Amino acid sequence: MRPGPDYVIRCPGPNCSGVFLYPSIMSGNTFGAEYWTDGKCVAPMLPEMPQISLCDECGTFFWLDDLLDDAEIVDRSDPMFPWEDRNNTMFPIVRFLGTLEYLEAVEAGVCRTTDEELKLRLLAWRAHNDILLDRKPSRRGRPAPEQKNRLLTDSEWRQNLEAILALTKRRRSPEHRLVRIEIYRELGDFEAAKAELSKMDTSGDWGPYVRCLRELCEKRDSRVGRVQLDSMG
Ligand SMILES: [Zn+2]
Repeated sequence: MRPGPDYVIRCPGPNCSGVFLYPSIMSGNTFGAEYWTDGKCVAPMLPEMPQISLCDECGTFFWLDDLLDDAEIVDRSDPMFPWEDRNNTMFPIVRFLGTLEYLEAVEAGVCRTTDEELKLRLLAWRAHNDILLDRKPSRRGRPAPEQKNRLLTDSEWRQNLEAILALTKRRRSPEHRLVRIEIYRELGDFEAAKAELSKMDTSGDWGPYVRCLRELCEKRDSRVGRVQLDSMG
C-alpha cells in the first residue's frame, strides 16, 4: 500500500471549528484478500477508508467526497506542521461510523439520493457482519466508539436488510442481484434467493459468488460465508 497525501478536513457544521486529518492512499492491491458472501473484501494491502464520518464536537455527519476536492494537503513530516501532537488528539484522524451511526445518518437525512442511502445501509450491514464474524479489515481511520458499533438487534438488522431489498428492487446489475440473493439467503428465504440465482450465469467474474451462494442455498445455510476465488488463488 502506498500512502497518498494527508488532507485537512474542516467540519461543515455551522460554527464548528472541528478539524480532522484524512490520510489518503495512493494505491493498494488485493493480494491475500478474503472475499465474503456479503460482498465484503478484506484486503490487508488495500485498507478501507471512511466514506462518511461524524464530527464528535457538533454531531454533524459529513461525506468525505464532498470535502476532499477543496481540502488543503499537509505534510505531517514537516516540523512546522502546526497541529500535530503525539496522540493526535488536537488533530484527530477522521473516524469510521459504527453500525448504529450508519443507520442514524440515514435517519438524520444525510442521503441526497437512494444510492447514498444504499451505500450507508450496506456499510451498516457489513459492519454488523464484521463484528459477528470477527473480521478485522485493515483500515485508515479511527474506529467508532464501541457503544456505537455493536451488533444490531434482530429488528434493526431485519429492518435494514428489508430496506436494502427495497432499494435494489429494480436494479439488474450483477452486483445488485448478488446483494439481493445474499440478503434473501441471510433472511432464510431460500426460494427467493434461488429465483434470483437462476438469472445469474456462472461464467465471468461473479461465477465463484454464484456457485458459492447456490451451494449454501442448497444446504439451506443462512450464515455469511467465505467465497473462494479459484482464479485468484
Ligand atoms: Zn463539527
